[in-house]
Amino acid sequence: MHYFEYRSGELHAEGVPVRRIAEEVGTPTYVYSLATLRRHYQIFDQAFARLPHLVCFSVKANSNLAVLRVFVRAGGGFDIVSGGELFRALKAGADPKKIVFSGVGKRTDEMEDALRAGILMFNVESQQELRVLNEVARSLGKKAPISLRVNPDVDPRTHPYISTGMKKSKFGIDIKRSVEEYKKALSLSYLEVIGVDCHIGSQLTSIPPFVDALERVKLLLGALRTEGCHIRYLDLGGGLGIRYKDEEPPHPDLYAEAIIRGLGGLNVILILEPGRVIVGNAGILVTKVLYLKETEDKKFVVVDGAMNDLIRPALYGSYQGILPVEERTGETMVADVVGPICESGDFFAKDREIPRPKPGDLLAVMSAGAYGFSMSSNYNSRAKAAEVLVDGESFYVVRERESLQDLIRGEAIPSILH
Ligand SMILES: *Cc1c(COP(=O)(O)O)cnc(C)c1O
Repeated sequence: MHYFEYRSGELHAEGVPVRRIAEEVGTPTYVYSLATLRRHYQIFDQAFARLPHLVCFSVKANSNLAVLRVFVRAGGGFDIVSGGELFRALKAGADPKKIVFSGVGKRTDEMEDALRAGILMFNVESQQELRVLNEVARSLGKKAPISLRVNPDVDPRTHPYISTGMKKSKFGIDIKRSVEEYKKALSLSYLEVIGVDCHIGSQLTSIPPFVDALERVKLLLGALRTEGCHIRYLDLGGGLGIRYKDEEPPHPDLYAEAIIRGLGGLNVILILEPGRVIVGNAGILVTKVLYLKETEDKKFVVVDGAMNDLIRPALYGSYQGILPVEERTGETMVADVVGPICESGDFFAKDREIPRPKPGDLLAVMSAGAYGFSMSSNYNSRAKAAEVLVDGESFYVVRERESLQDLIRGEAIPSILH
């Protein structure tokens, strides 16, 4: 459910015609709907209302300060994977006590910053990381609250690049060896063991993999109890999928129900790290048609947005809906919708049937709120797109379009080349 709809033939973001935003801000531009962000957060949070829980929005899905602020105001926490994301979350006004730090390669300076900020916990992914974190905490005279990220070896049945909980994945600690690792963690005096963490992948469209992972994690909790280690926090990661095309992901209520049932009265504080399910369908990418190019075998719609703005189709071969901003009936065409970048992987859609556009027409790439701007780059020296937040009849630029000067910021020609 989202608030991007046609009204009298014109695509609107809430009460604002998308065309107006494009006219004032230019293209390509990301447009987010505040009402949708709030609604998705609320639905997800409410689904777990029966249990003590904390929703930690996964910052990597969409790290714009204004978007993060929406979740701060809603009482949410954050799942971060870098010092940069810590910086952003704190800038957005996050309560450090609601921040969890995930990731397989944390640097010591990032650990220091997070310890100084006083975050809720580190999700530790290896034995070496345990030892390094213990040393960093010692040097600061602090105790680092930790959970171990365990790898339950469950197939999430999603794209291999976003499967993270299988045996051969770089993430987490083999659940079979995890009791041993917990014992090591307990022996390190600058660590405080408070949780168990597990995240099996992204864009999951069915419940069983979540439940399977939970079953395995529950066995671990039992084993840890026998060892006298009482776990207060159970972090089940993120991963709930959304509809891009015809997927039928479970509603958050069903997901929550399955998890609550699976927990069976276990006395823990649940942490959830949703990203995509909150922001994915709360954003679109607005782009302008530059040219129609037709060869004997193929038709191309060349637009001003590209894989540097939205890389999902290029990276995962994933589907993004594409709608004309002016609703059209009549002639359709089958075309590839492509950007200007010098890569054949630079496309938003392949062999897609769309209403035949004209140069200058605006298109909306749907479901672009998650892993859109946050994965964007300056490839081909393209300035990054603007980001806009819509609230009812108003809209706000929440990130300016980059300028040419931004493209070379920090670069220098050394004197030997003068
Ligand atoms: C990416 C990630 C998430 C969020 O995943 P979504 O599929 O966007 O919900 C949560 N936790 C961790 C550790 C992640 O790496």
